[in-house]
Amino acid sequence: MSETLGSPQRPLRVAVVGSGPSGFYTVGALAKAADVECRVDVFDRLPTPYGLVRGGVAPDHQNIKNVIRVYRKLTLDPGFRFFGNVEIGTVLDVDELRRHYDQVVFAVGNESFRTIGVPGEDLDGIFSATEFVGWYNGHPDFDHLDFALDDVERVAVVGNGNVAMDVARVLAKNPDGLAKTDIAAHAVETLRRSSVREILVLGRRGPAQAAFTTKEIKEIGGLEEIDVVIPPADAELDELSRRWLDENGSTGAKNNVEYLTQRSAEAPRGLDRTMVFEFLTSPIEFLGHGGRLEAVKLERNELYEDDRGTPRPRGTGEHRIENVQLALTAVGYRGVPMPGLPFDERNGVLPNDEGRIQDANGNRLAGLYTVGWAKRGPTGLIGSNVADAAETVRHMMSDLTAGDVRSAEIDDPDALSAMLGAKGLRVVSFADWESLDAIEVERGEAVGKIREKFTDVNGMLAALDGG
Ligand code: NAP
Repeated sequence: MSETLGSPQRPLRVAVVGSGPSGFYTVGALAKAADVECRVDVFDRLPTPYGLVRGGVAPDHQNIKNVIRVYRKLTLDPGFRFFGNVEIGTVLDVDELRRHYDQVVFAVGNESFRTIGVPGEDLDGIFSATEFVGWYNGHPDFDHLDFALDDVERVAVVGNGNVAMDVARVLAKNPDGLAKTDIAAHAVETLRRSSVREILVLGRRGPAQAAFTTKEIKEIGGLEEIDVVIPPADAELDELSRRWLDENGSTGAKNNVEYLTQRSAEAPRGLDRTMVFEFLTSPIEFLGHGGRLEAVKLERNELYEDDRGTPRPRGTGEHRIENVQLALTAVGYRGVPMPGLPFDERNGVLPNDEGRIQDANGNRLAGLYTVGWAKRGPTGLIGSNVADAAETVRHMMSDLTAGDVRSAEIDDPDALSAMLGAKGLRVVSFADWESLDAIEVERGEAVGKIREKFTDVNGMLAALDGG
């Protein structure tokens, strides 16, 4: 190659696989890379961009979705292209993709979920919160699900993270308010028919170890629709937690404990719907009849200190059974393998060293990088991806400077579009997405909502092509 990679004559060609927050913050960090001329193509398996901002953030948290404005600005750069409806690893394999780019960044997030691993978890009526969230947000993968809330009076939400708070809150809220958001139409219909009376939120450890943020628990505590009950015995800290909180507790954990303690002393208002927070409680079996969930067997836990000084739960042998017709397990997301790349089964991520993808022996795979949840696992808020993407891009730039790049074999930037077209794929460009976006907003306006999402890929493509 005669011209220098990253020069105006031969810009660096980068593919970013995944258009969620980590993908877009990578685009942003590349735009800031000094003295390097860069062309970025962003791929998404869906025709729609923005990943979890569209498909994960709760519909009543519209302010969080404002980050889209930042992402959209990045798409205005003439070097930016969007390849929607193109799944890497299936319709286009990783090796094929690499032939067109100097560097490839995998921003594929965590597309699956963890299970608890107790008997009966496969009964009908047990879902992961990931599925429930995807369903109410109109994600095409979850369009087919049926939550039959008209047959449900009691729900168990397992887990104490912010996802657990999201699903518990959406179940509790008056659907009339949600109906004005961008929630999927099928979810509003189902929530309107809901006969849910009681939501049990189960934390396996104590209030001091809850993973939710104080803002989220306070939002639940402020709901008008439902009595929030925190049994005083559950709010009380055991000896170990008190010491741990004093010595190691974050400000967030201290604020959570303060709020939960104060709320536990408040008498319920006597509403006919309640949300009960139980701590130190784990499901140990789901019980059903005819393949359908009817109850959950719970065990009381106690905390012990592991060899790193972290409080861990263990069962006390004290059991009880609670009738529930729906259980949502909100115990964390999990990555799925990307065909053609190594995978760290234990942690559910792409094996990497600060974003540089490695093989099973710890050797770097030149030109391949990762960001976001695919890199570090399912932790952190949307903004955590800013520093995370900056770290990976820093390494991409130093590898470029060191000449440690496997440069594209195919020099023509239009060759990939032609090849995808020849495969019969309907690639969705960013201009196409903006048309779809306008149609969704228009459909929403007609029914008094922020937007009415298309919830299946065929519907999106038909709308784009005049169907
Ligand atoms: P998370 O914050 O890691 O919480 C997972 C919860 O599941 C923890 O309470 C964990 O308890 C519990 N858990 C794990 N395994 C369990 C088991 N076998 N039995 C019972 N409980 C179990 O994960 P997340 O809620 O999925 O959220 C993912 C990330 O997205 C977090 O960083 C979260 O803050 C963020 N998020 C933010 C918002 C927002 O800002 N509004 C909304 C949604 C998500 P232990 O602590 O005992 O492991």
